Amino acid sequence: MKITGVKIKTMEIPLLERFRISSGASSVSLTSIIELETDEGLTGYGEGVASRYVTGENLEGMVNAINILVRSIIGLNPLDLEQIYWTMEGLMVRNSGAKAAVDIAIHDLVGKILQQPIYKLLGGYQDYFLTDLSLGISDPETMAQKSKKAVEQGFDTIKIKVGTTFKEDISRVKTIREAVGPDIVLRVDANQAWSPKEAVKIIDKIAEFDLEFVEQPVPAWDIDGLAYVTEHSPVPIMADEAVLNARDAFKVIKEHGSDLINIKLMKCGGIREAIKINTIAEASGVKCMLGCMISETNVSVTAAASLGAALKNIMTGDLDSIFALKELPVKGGVSAQGKKLMLPQAPGLGLKTDLLHF
Ligand code: MG
Repeated sequence: MKITGVKIKTMEIPLLERFRISSGASSVSLTSIIELETDEGLTGYGEGVASRYVTGENLEGMVNAINILVRSIIGLNPLDLEQIYWTMEGLMVRNSGAKAAVDIAIHDLVGKILQQPIYKLLGGYQDYFLTDLSLGISDPETMAQKSKKAVEQGFDTIKIKVGTTFKEDISRVKTIREAVGPDIVLRVDANQAWSPKEAVKIIDKIAEFDLEFVEQPVPAWDIDGLAYVTEHSPVPIMADEAVLNARDAFKVIKEHGSDLINIKLMKCGGIREAIKINTIAEASGVKCMLGCMISETNVSVTAAASLGAALKNIMTGDLDSIFALKELPVKGGVSAQGKKLMLPQAPGLGLKTDLLHF
Protein backbone atom coordinates (compact mmCIF):
# COMPACT_ATOMS: atom_id res chain seq x y z
CA MET A 1 0.00 0.00 0.00
CA LYS A 2 1.24 3.47 -0.86
CA ILE A 3 0.27 6.97 0.23
CA THR A 4 -1.02 8.86 -2.82
CA GLY A 5 -2.29 12.26 -1.63
CA VAL A 6 -4.25 14.34 0.85
CA LYS A 7 -7.45 16.33 1.06
CA ILE A 8 -7.65 19.10 3.65
CA LYS A 9 -10.78 20.67 5.07
CA THR A 10 -10.45 23.75 7.25
CA MET A 11 -13.27 24.35 9.68
CA GLU A 12 -14.50 27.09 11.94
CA ILE A 13 -16.57 25.70 14.81
CA PRO A 14 -18.04 28.09 17.41
CA LEU A 15 -17.29 27.41 21.07
CA LEU A 16 -20.23 27.15 23.48
CA GLU A 17 -18.77 30.16 25.25
CA ARG A 18 -15.71 32.38 25.07
CA PHE A 19 -12.71 30.66 26.71
CA ARG A 20 -10.12 32.87 28.38
CA ILE A 21 -6.63 32.03 29.64
CA SER A 22 -3.87 34.35 30.87
CA SER A 23 -2.36 34.76 27.38
CA GLY A 24 -5.56 35.32 25.38
CA ALA A 25 -9.18 34.38 24.66
CA SER A 26 -11.01 32.44 21.97
CA SER A 27 -14.62 32.09 20.79
CA VAL A 28 -14.10 29.78 17.87
CA SER A 29 -12.23 26.60 16.98
CA LEU A 30 -10.10 26.94 13.85
CA THR A 31 -8.97 23.54 12.73
CA SER A 32 -8.06 21.46 9.72
CA ILE A 33 -9.12 17.88 9.22
CA ILE A 34 -7.26 15.83 6.67
CA GLU A 35 -7.99 12.71 4.66
CA LEU A 36 -4.84 10.85 3.65
CA GLU A 37 -5.34 8.73 0.55
CA THR A 38 -3.75 5.46 -0.53
CA ASP A 39 -3.59 3.52 -3.78
CA GLU A 40 -5.83 0.80 -2.30
CA GLY A 41 -8.73 3.10 -1.47
CA LEU A 42 -8.12 3.05 2.30
CA THR A 43 -8.11 6.53 3.88
CA GLY A 44 -6.75 7.83 7.18
CA TYR A 45 -8.00 10.87 9.09
CA GLY A 46 -6.00 13.39 11.05
CA GLU A 47 -6.33 16.88 12.48
CA GLY A 48 -4.02 19.84 12.86
CA VAL A 49 -4.63 22.85 15.06
CA ALA A 50 -2.49 25.97 14.77
CA SER A 51 -1.44 27.77 17.93
CA ARG A 52 0.35 31.06 17.28
CA TYR A 53 1.37 31.49 20.90
CA VAL A 54 2.62 27.97 21.55
CA THR A 55 3.94 26.55 18.27
CA GLY A 56 4.02 29.68 16.08
CA GLU A 57 1.67 28.29 13.44
CA ASN A 58 -1.40 29.81 11.81
CA LEU A 59 -4.11 27.95 9.92
CA GLU A 60 -3.14 29.14 6.45
CA GLY A 61 0.52 28.29 6.94
CA MET A 62 -0.40 24.96 8.46
CA VAL A 63 -2.45 23.95 5.43
CA ASN A 64 0.52 24.78 3.20
CA ALA A 65 2.84 22.80 5.45
CA ILE A 66 0.50 19.77 5.41
CA ASN A 67 0.50 19.80 1.61
CA ILE A 68 4.31 20.03 1.50
CA LEU A 69 4.72 17.27 4.12
CA VAL A 70 2.36 14.88 2.34
CA ARG A 71 4.07 15.49 -1.01
CA SER A 72 7.30 14.26 0.61
CA ILE A 73 5.77 10.96 1.78
CA ILE A 74 3.82 10.06 -1.36
CA GLY A 75 4.78 6.53 -2.40
CA LEU A 76 5.67 5.43 1.16
CA ASN A 77 3.83 2.61 2.91
CA PRO A 78 1.81 3.88 5.95
CA LEU A 79 3.34 1.04 8.01
CA ASP A 80 6.84 2.51 7.57
CA LEU A 81 6.38 4.86 10.52
CA GLU A 82 10.06 5.53 11.17
CA GLN A 83 10.73 6.33 7.49
CA ILE A 84 7.74 8.69 7.40
CA TYR A 85 8.79 10.38 10.67
CA TRP A 86 12.33 11.09 9.47
CA THR A 87 11.21 12.16 6.01
CA MET A 88 8.98 14.82 7.58
CA GLU A 89 11.61 15.82 10.18
CA GLY A 90 14.20 16.14 7.42
CA LEU A 91 11.92 18.33 5.37
CA MET A 92 11.13 21.06 7.89
CA VAL A 93 11.69 21.99 11.53
CA ARG A 94 8.76 22.83 13.86
CA ASN A 95 5.33 23.01 12.12
CA SER A 96 4.18 20.55 14.76
CA GLY A 97 0.44 21.00 14.16
CA ALA A 98 0.90 20.15 10.47
CA LYS A 99 3.08 17.14 11.33
CA ALA A 100 0.55 16.01 13.94
CA ALA A 101 -2.25 16.05 11.34
CA VAL A 102 -0.25 13.78 9.05
CA ASP A 103 1.03 11.55 11.87
CA ILE A 104 -2.49 11.01 13.25
CA ALA A 105 -3.80 10.13 9.78
CA ILE A 106 -0.93 7.67 9.30
CA HIS A 107 -1.75 5.99 12.62
CA ASP A 108 -5.43 5.81 11.62
CA LEU A 109 -4.33 4.05 8.42
CA VAL A 110 -2.04 1.67 10.31
CA GLY A 111 -4.93 0.71 12.59
CA LYS A 112 -7.17 0.10 9.61
CA ILE A 113 -4.52 -1.97 7.82
CA LEU A 114 -3.91 -4.12 10.91
CA GLN A 115 -7.60 -4.08 11.88
CA GLN A 116 -6.90 -2.84 15.40
CA PRO A 117 -7.91 0.25 17.38
CA ILE A 118 -4.97 2.62 17.85
CA TYR A 119 -4.95 2.38 21.65
CA LYS A 120 -4.25 -1.36 21.26
CA LEU A 121 -1.45 -0.81 18.75
CA LEU A 122 0.20 1.73 21.04
CA GLY A 123 0.21 -0.41 24.15
CA GLY A 124 -3.33 -1.19 25.26
CA TYR A 125 -2.79 -0.44 28.95
CA GLN A 126 -6.52 0.30 29.33
CA ASP A 127 -9.49 0.93 27.02
CA TYR A 128 -10.47 4.30 28.48
CA PHE A 129 -8.81 7.55 29.48
CA LEU A 130 -9.87 9.97 32.20
CA THR A 131 -10.02 13.68 31.60
CA ASP A 132 -10.47 16.75 33.74
CA LEU A 133 -12.60 19.76 32.87
CA SER A 134 -10.89 23.15 32.51
CA LEU A 135 -12.47 26.40 33.64
CA GLY A 136 -11.45 29.48 31.66
CA ILE A 137 -10.61 32.67 33.51
CA SER A 138 -13.65 34.48 34.84
CA ASP A 139 -14.76 35.96 38.15
CA PRO A 140 -14.38 33.56 41.10
CA GLU A 141 -18.12 33.14 41.72
CA THR A 142 -18.85 32.21 38.10
CA MET A 143 -15.97 29.74 38.10
CA ALA A 144 -17.21 28.21 41.35
CA GLN A 145 -20.71 27.74 39.87
CA LYS A 146 -19.19 26.06 36.81
CA SER A 147 -17.04 23.82 38.97
CA LYS A 148 -20.13 22.62 40.86
CA LYS A 149 -21.89 21.92 37.57
CA ALA A 150 -18.86 19.96 36.33
CA VAL A 151 -18.91 17.80 39.47
CA GLU A 152 -22.63 17.14 38.91
CA GLN A 153 -21.75 16.03 35.37
CA GLY A 154 -19.35 13.43 36.76
CA PHE A 155 -15.98 15.19 36.68
CA ASP A 156 -13.79 14.67 39.74
CA THR A 157 -10.86 16.79 38.55
CA ILE A 158 -11.08 20.50 37.73
CA LYS A 159 -8.36 22.56 36.07
CA ILE A 160 -8.46 26.21 37.07
CA LYS A 161 -7.06 28.76 34.64
CA VAL A 162 -5.42 31.67 36.46
CA GLY A 163 -3.04 34.53 35.78
CA THR A 164 -4.73 37.90 36.33
CA THR A 165 -3.96 39.45 39.72
CA PHE A 166 -2.74 37.67 42.86
CA LYS A 167 -5.84 38.69 44.73
CA GLU A 168 -8.19 37.41 42.02
CA ASP A 169 -6.24 34.18 41.48
CA ILE A 170 -6.19 33.34 45.19
CA SER A 171 -9.91 34.09 45.37
CA ARG A 172 -10.57 31.82 42.35
CA VAL A 173 -8.86 28.83 43.91
CA LYS A 174 -10.34 29.43 47.38
CA THR A 175 -13.91 29.94 46.12
CA ILE A 176 -13.77 26.85 43.90
CA ARG A 177 -12.36 24.68 46.70
CA GLU A 178 -15.15 25.83 49.01
CA ALA A 179 -17.74 25.12 46.29
CA VAL A 180 -16.63 21.58 45.39
CA GLY A 181 -15.51 20.33 48.81
CA PRO A 182 -12.36 18.42 49.78
CA ASP A 183 -12.72 15.33 47.57
CA ILE A 184 -12.45 16.94 44.15
CA VAL A 185 -8.96 17.16 42.63
CA LEU A 186 -7.95 20.73 41.74
CA ARG A 187 -5.11 21.64 39.40
CA VAL A 188 -4.06 25.16 38.37
CA ASP A 189 -2.72 26.43 35.04
CA ALA A 190 -1.09 29.88 34.86
CA ASN A 191 -0.13 29.68 31.16
CA GLN A 192 3.24 31.45 31.71
CA ALA A 193 1.72 34.36 33.65
CA TRP A 194 4.23 34.79 36.48
CA SER A 195 7.89 35.53 37.08
CA PRO A 196 9.67 32.79 39.04
CA LYS A 197 9.53 34.75 42.32
CA GLU A 198 5.90 35.72 41.80
CA ALA A 199 5.11 32.08 41.13
CA VAL A 200 6.68 30.86 44.36
CA LYS A 201 4.92 33.58 46.32
CA ILE A 202 1.44 32.83 44.96
CA ILE A 203 1.84 29.04 45.00
CA ASP A 204 2.82 29.28 48.68
CA LYS A 205 -0.52 31.01 49.28
CA ILE A 206 -2.78 28.74 47.18
CA ALA A 207 -1.11 25.50 48.35
CA GLU A 208 -3.41 25.43 51.40
CA PHE A 209 -6.34 24.65 49.05
CA ASP A 210 -4.82 21.24 48.29
CA LEU A 211 -3.65 21.37 44.67
CA GLU A 212 -2.53 18.40 42.59
CA PHE A 213 -0.11 20.52 40.55
CA VAL A 214 0.50 23.97 39.05
CA GLU A 215 1.04 24.07 35.30
CA GLN A 216 3.49 26.33 33.43
CA PRO A 217 3.83 29.10 36.03
CA VAL A 218 6.58 31.00 34.15
CA PRO A 219 7.37 31.90 30.51
CA ALA A 220 8.09 28.93 28.25
CA TRP A 221 11.65 30.05 27.47
CA ASP A 222 12.69 30.33 31.13
CA ILE A 223 13.87 26.82 32.05
CA ASP A 224 16.06 28.16 34.88
CA GLY A 225 13.01 29.99 36.25
CA LEU A 226 10.88 26.85 35.95
CA ALA A 227 13.54 24.90 37.85
CA TYR A 228 13.63 27.61 40.53
CA VAL A 229 9.86 27.35 41.00
CA THR A 230 10.00 23.54 41.03
CA GLU A 231 12.67 23.61 43.74
CA HIS A 232 10.83 26.09 45.95
CA SER A 233 7.18 25.14 45.38
CA PRO A 234 5.27 23.03 47.92
CA VAL A 235 3.03 21.90 45.02
CA PRO A 236 4.29 19.75 42.09
CA ILE A 237 5.03 21.77 38.94
CA MET A 238 4.03 20.68 35.43
CA ALA A 239 5.76 21.92 32.26
CA ASP A 240 3.45 22.64 29.33
CA GLU A 241 4.54 25.38 26.90
CA ALA A 242 8.19 24.78 27.94
CA VAL A 243 8.11 21.23 26.54
CA LEU A 244 7.14 21.04 22.90
CA ASN A 245 9.01 17.91 21.81
CA ALA A 246 11.28 15.11 23.06
CA ARG A 247 14.42 17.26 23.05
CA ASP A 248 12.68 19.86 25.22
CA ALA A 249 11.56 17.09 27.57
CA PHE A 250 15.13 15.82 27.92
CA LYS A 251 16.44 19.33 28.57
CA VAL A 252 13.77 20.27 31.11
CA ILE A 253 14.15 16.98 32.99
CA LYS A 254 17.97 17.28 32.99
CA GLU A 255 17.68 20.78 34.47
CA HIS A 256 15.13 19.53 37.06
CA GLY A 257 12.77 22.02 35.44
CA SER A 258 9.51 20.32 36.41
CA ASP A 259 7.97 17.41 38.29
CA LEU A 260 5.48 16.59 35.51
CA ILE A 261 5.07 17.09 31.76
CA ASN A 262 2.00 17.95 29.71
CA ILE A 263 2.23 16.21 26.31
CA LYS A 264 0.15 17.58 23.44
CA LEU A 265 0.10 16.12 19.95
CA MET A 266 -0.11 19.63 18.45
CA LYS A 267 3.02 20.75 20.33
CA CYS A 268 5.19 17.77 19.50
CA GLY A 269 4.10 16.76 16.00
CA GLY A 270 2.05 13.66 16.68
CA ILE A 271 1.88 10.27 18.34
CA ARG A 272 5.38 9.08 17.41
CA GLU A 273 7.10 12.09 18.99
CA ALA A 274 4.74 11.99 21.98
CA ILE A 275 5.84 8.40 22.71
CA LYS A 276 9.46 9.63 22.81
CA ILE A 277 8.58 12.35 25.32
CA ASN A 278 6.82 9.81 27.52
CA THR A 279 9.73 7.37 27.31
CA ILE A 280 12.23 10.03 28.43
CA ALA A 281 9.88 11.09 31.21
CA GLU A 282 9.14 7.55 32.37
CA ALA A 283 12.83 6.67 32.55
CA SER A 284 13.36 9.80 34.68
CA GLY A 285 10.51 9.15 37.09
CA VAL A 286 8.42 11.97 35.62
CA LYS A 287 4.71 11.31 35.06
CA CYS A 288 2.90 12.79 32.08
CA MET A 289 -0.48 14.26 31.32
CA LEU A 290 -2.02 14.25 27.86
CA GLY A 291 -3.51 17.63 26.98
CA CYS A 292 -5.05 19.35 23.98
CA MET A 293 -5.43 22.75 22.36
CA ILE A 294 -8.76 24.52 22.79
CA SER A 295 -9.61 24.12 19.06
CA GLU A 296 -9.16 20.35 18.88
CA THR A 297 -12.16 18.28 17.81
CA ASN A 298 -12.90 14.60 18.41
CA VAL A 299 -10.55 13.63 15.55
CA SER A 300 -7.28 14.57 17.27
CA VAL A 301 -8.73 14.12 20.76
CA THR A 302 -9.46 10.48 19.89
CA ALA A 303 -5.82 10.09 18.85
CA ALA A 304 -4.63 11.74 22.08
CA ALA A 305 -6.96 9.67 24.27
CA SER A 306 -5.78 6.50 22.47
CA LEU A 307 -2.19 7.31 23.40
CA GLY A 308 -3.14 8.25 26.95
CA ALA A 309 -5.02 4.97 27.39
CA ALA A 310 -2.20 2.95 25.84
CA LEU A 311 0.67 4.00 28.13
CA LYS A 312 0.80 3.63 31.91
CA ASN A 313 3.10 6.59 32.59
CA ILE A 314 0.54 8.96 31.03
CA MET A 315 -1.43 9.08 34.21
CA THR A 316 -4.05 11.72 33.53
CA GLY A 317 -5.81 13.67 30.81
CA ASP A 318 -6.78 17.22 29.97
CA LEU A 319 -8.72 16.39 26.80
CA ASP A 320 -11.73 18.57 27.39
CA SER A 321 -11.81 20.66 24.20
CA ILE A 322 -14.55 18.41 22.80
CA PHE A 323 -16.87 19.60 25.57
CA ALA A 324 -16.33 23.24 24.60
CA LEU A 325 -17.40 22.94 20.95
CA LYS A 326 -20.93 23.70 19.72
CA GLU A 327 -20.73 20.71 17.39
CA LEU A 328 -18.31 17.94 16.52
CA PRO A 329 -17.26 17.43 12.89
CA VAL A 330 -17.46 13.61 12.90
CA LYS A 331 -19.25 10.82 14.71
CA GLY A 332 -17.45 7.90 16.29
CA GLY A 333 -14.08 8.18 18.00
CA VAL A 334 -14.04 8.64 21.77
CA SER A 335 -17.36 8.55 23.55
CA ALA A 336 -17.47 10.63 26.70
CA GLN A 337 -19.26 9.55 29.85
CA GLY A 338 -18.46 12.47 32.13
CA LYS A 339 -14.75 12.25 32.87
CA LYS A 340 -14.40 8.86 31.17
CA LEU A 341 -13.39 8.84 27.51
CA MET A 342 -14.11 5.36 26.12
CA LEU A 343 -11.94 4.36 23.19
CA PRO A 344 -13.64 2.91 20.12
CA GLN A 345 -13.06 -0.77 19.38
CA ALA A 346 -13.24 -0.19 15.61
CA PRO A 347 -9.93 -0.20 13.67
CA GLY A 348 -7.83 2.98 13.64
CA LEU A 349 -9.48 5.98 15.27
CA GLY A 350 -12.93 4.47 14.72
CA LEU A 351 -14.26 7.69 13.20
CA LYS A 352 -17.40 7.81 11.07
CA THR A 353 -16.38 10.44 8.57
CA ASP A 354 -19.38 10.41 6.22
CA LEU A 355 -20.39 13.87 7.48
CA LEU A 356 -17.13 15.35 6.21
CA HIS A 357 -17.25 16.64 2.67
CA PHE A 358 -13.78 17.40 1.40
MG1 MG B 1 -1.42 24.35 29.94
